[in-house]
Amino acid sequence: MDITELKKLIQKTKLNIPSQVLKYYEEMKEEREAMVENIEKKGVKDKRVLLTMRIIPRHIFVPEELKYLAYEDNPLPIGKEQTISQPFIIAFMTENLEIRENHNVLEIGTGSGYHTAILASLANKVVTLEISEELSLQAKKRLKNLGFENIEFVVGDGSEGFPELSPYDRICVSAASPDIPIPLLEQLKIEGIMVIPVGNENEQILSKIIKVGNGKGFIKKELCGCRFVKLKGKFGFS
Ligand code: SAH
Repeated sequence: MDITELKKLIQKTKLNIPSQVLKYYEEMKEEREAMVENIEKKGVKDKRVLLTMRIIPRHIFVPEELKYLAYEDNPLPIGKEQTISQPFIIAFMTENLEIRENHNVLEIGTGSGYHTAILASLANKVVTLEISEELSLQAKKRLKNLGFENIEFVVGDGSEGFPELSPYDRICVSAASPDIPIPLLEQLKIEGIMVIPVGNENEQILSKIIKVGNGKGFIKKELCGCRFVKLKGKFGFS
């Protein structure tokens, strides 16, 4: 696909991708295509999610010396003992979030900012919380350079959410939690969706939570086994 065709498709599918991002489109294009083909093979079908992953340059979110591994289907270290999540799991989580272009999304665990870029491409606005100030600042710089203007970066304990800008249509938790943090459930809109890995420090079940009824109840669907770094903070592993 050439750039003109790509721009048309971005418009047609109502993606919120800044034009600066397209400057990277030719870099490592074949590797990125192969990554997306693999994600499709594993069962992800959502066209907007797949197109976004075809465009966002994962190689600028990983340390320079690991660039050659950026499109392998593996998590990679990003410093501070944290990792950028595996591409398939990011695609799978995002598909399950069912994000529309008018949605406001809360993300817990900015990390490298790669998943933040994907969420911001699909949604109206993203509020992203990160407990490490250093990681948050790095991600902010990266995403500003890429031209994203619909992201609010917050340094703080994401297990408590961010009530100031709530309620959210969607909540994406990218760190393992012992339970569903009550504040996150409270800050989710009725009929809103949250995707969160729930379990112990070594293994979790990726869970899809749909808030129902008068807002006190929720439906929980178990998606698959997974392994994330742990959620710190008051409602995490502290
Ligand atoms: N999706 C990210 C990776 C997230 S790794 C990416 O694509 O790069 C999980 C992140 O959650 C780490 O950066 C970690 O510092 C952060 N984290 C852990 N506990 C947190 C908390 N209570 N609040 C906010 N961020 C937290």
